[in-house]
Amino acid sequence: MIGLYLHFPFCVRKCPYCDFFSIDRHTPGQIAEYVELLLRHLELAAAGHRQGPLTSIFFGGGTPSLMSPEQIDRILFAAAHRFGVSADVEISLEANPGTVTAASLVGYRAAGVNRLSVGVQSLQTENLARLGRIHTPDQAVQALRLARRAGFENIACDLMFAQPGQTVAALEQDLFRLLDEASAHLSCYGLTVEEGTLYHERQLRGDLRLPDEEVYAEQFMALHRRLTEAGFEHYEISNYARPGRQCRHNLGYWRRQPCLGIGAGAHAFEARDWGLRLAVPADLDRYRRLLHQGLDPAEVLERFDQRQAMAETLYLGLRTAEGVAEAEFAARFGIGFRDAFGPALEQSPDYLYQTQGRLQFSLAGWLLFDHLILPFL
Ligand code: SF4
Repeated sequence: MIGLYLHFPFCVRKCPYCDFFSIDRHTPGQIAEYVELLLRHLELAAAGHRQGPLTSIFFGGGTPSLMSPEQIDRILFAAAHRFGVSADVEISLEANPGTVTAASLVGYRAAGVNRLSVGVQSLQTENLARLGRIHTPDQAVQALRLARRAGFENIACDLMFAQPGQTVAALEQDLFRLLDEASAHLSCYGLTVEEGTLYHERQLRGDLRLPDEEVYAEQFMALHRRLTEAGFEHYEISNYARPGRQCRHNLGYWRRQPCLGIGAGAHAFEARDWGLRLAVPADLDRYRRLLHQGLDPAEVLERFDQRQAMAETLYLGLRTAEGVAEAEFAARFGIGFRDAFGPALEQSPDYLYQTQGRLQFSLAGWLLFDHLILPFL
């Protein structure tokens, strides 16, 4: 299993809560140049690479739906040519509802994209305005309908909860509308304020107040209840899917499977030894310069030793419903997780449980994940 992540760092406008690498000033010429850089990067990455075929490809950003279908087609052709792709490869594209048309969606599908991830976030006009999104609720719903008409069967939506002023009733109303639009996958993230964002400045000034932990928990639980009632699997803390529609690319990340990272700001993971995480600088000038010099722009972010690899295996695995398999862990590391993490395991007896040889967090444990995971790290 090997994934390919491609980062596209341009957006129409910067959302005030967003800390991803994204640039809101660009021209069609800059996008065209960036596509050439991605192609060059792919070529360079393939030169020293023997793994393949690709089992998942993920266009993330930023707003990759600012690329034309022809540009996506060229990148996919190059990726298939350089690495090969498995017969059932999952190819995801993140799309902002404010940037797609019937024609572009038909084009993406024809280019081979078979999973569309639509950044809906909310279907309430005031919430979208507060989040600085460029689209209206109707545009979001229309994008989902056009995607279906274009032949997408695997449609994912992002929905944000714990927004200022958001009620459970309004959140559920959004959710039911998205379910009516036949979404196959929901990513539900609670709004958080990250340093370096406009929201952070507003919070420091006292202009922004997020809902308290109780409201967060109430909304998290409401999403879980409604979505599981509707037949979705809650397969990761923030992710729900209809059976068979889990995001294969992200599952690979949580399972620490290898992933290539292409594009400024992309991360990659190599599974050899205890694991190596690489990052491509989130700096377009530097990215361009290194590629023009024929140099691989990826830098080592973290070289894992055994202890760190074991900790990350738990950190990522316990985010998922499948949890961590005791036998696989012991085979990989030569030590059982009880021996490696005995005292940490004893700190969360009410939230951790083991069934059929797998260690998992309960739903209440997921809600406290950031706190409960600390003893393992
Ligand atoms: S569209 Fe997405 S990536 Fe771009 S600024 Fe908004 S949240 Fe960030």
